Amino acid sequence: SVFDHKEFDQHENVAFINDEVTGLRAIIAVHNTALGPSLGGCRMYPYADSAAALTDVLRLAKGMTYKAALANLPQGGGKSVIIADPRADKTPELMRKMGSFVDSLQGQYIVAEDSGIAVQDIKYMAENTAYAGGLSAHFNYLGESADGNPSPATAYGVYVGMAAAVAFRLGKSLADVTVAIQGLGQVGYRLAEHLHAAGAKLIVADTYQPNVDRAITELGAKAVAIADIHKVAAEVFSPCAMGASINSDTIHEIQAVVIAGAANNQLASDDFGEVLLARDILYAPDYVINAAGIIDLYHQSIKSTPEQLKAHIESIGDTLTDIFKRSQAENQATNMIANLLAEAKFKK
Ligand code: NAD
Repeated sequence: SVFDHKEFDQHENVAFINDEVTGLRAIIAVHNTALGPSLGGCRMYPYADSAAALTDVLRLAKGMTYKAALANLPQGGGKSVIIADPRADKTPELMRKMGSFVDSLQGQYIVAEDSGIAVQDIKYMAENTAYAGGLSAHFNYLGESADGNPSPATAYGVYVGMAAAVAFRLGKSLADVTVAIQGLGQVGYRLAEHLHAAGAKLIVADTYQPNVDRAITELGAKAVAIADIHKVAAEVFSPCAMGASINSDTIHEIQAVVIAGAANNQLASDDFGEVLLARDILYAPDYVINAAGIIDLYHQSIKSTPEQLKAHIESIGDTLTDIFKRSQAENQATNMIANLLAEAKFKK
């Protein structure tokens, strides 16, 4: 069922396609378009069954509404999933058909990259629809070419957000703190570079050893075991790998007083926000601090200048500071305050 599904939250549209010619099986979920057309990535994943795909797309689309609202974008939330293996099932025809599927919603949904989908896939989709983004992310980071990768923008947004959190909680700059980074991938490594340039000390962990070695050599980072990164002595813990790293096993071991990272769904459940509040650990809500990727997407679509984009990304710091102040004044968890602020925007 869709309407009785536990993740159904008055989504405006949920569309399905089953194309025998290309083998495309996909779902597009549009959560809310009160602030503008829905924007969100397309995820290609070999879901066990269509129920698992539906659960994922409904939940992810809703999350995009909240993210876009607090990123001050005139955009709503949507997401799409292709039920297939990105390593085995990708063909240009399948992607073109996905483009036609996106186009059939006539602009209610704008597609971009998510896991399993590369810039080239979006290019195939864009042959059949104008509603495709993420072709040329233009946040220019240390001379990197603008190839559609949102990670440089995301890393800069997390860096700015972390600076705001450290200033609020400790009255210090990043030069005076140690940051423990969990995951040195597309975002985490670039974040580490920003922090190193700002004078922060780094403790890092990654399951992929070459990333760790590089951080030790290039950034003077100290490496620790995967199982220890959340509990090291550091002012800031920065989850930049997978979701749910703040869970019942880890939450009481965290020594940091600020949590600020790129990963989506950092809290294993919303209730952990209350636990962090009680422990006086300042949590930067994940979808607020990691929103620069979609901010970049939006700026591509309006063809703004790099300065306008940078200023918009930097506003993440102000949004977080507002959340922190309200959390303190009302003694409510920061993740709950973020939800309330987002809902006030798109439920108007
Ligand atoms: P990535 O796959 O490039 O990097 C993840 C890194 O984490 C990899 O280096 C991997 O080896 C490492 N890793 C995996 N499991 C680990 C573990 N248990 N402990 C430590 N390291 C581990 O991904 P990314 O694009 O850098 O994204 C990181 C997180 O940020 C994800 O949760 C993603 O959803 C979120 N995010 C990314 C963007 C973006 O623009 N890329 C935007 C918003 C949110």
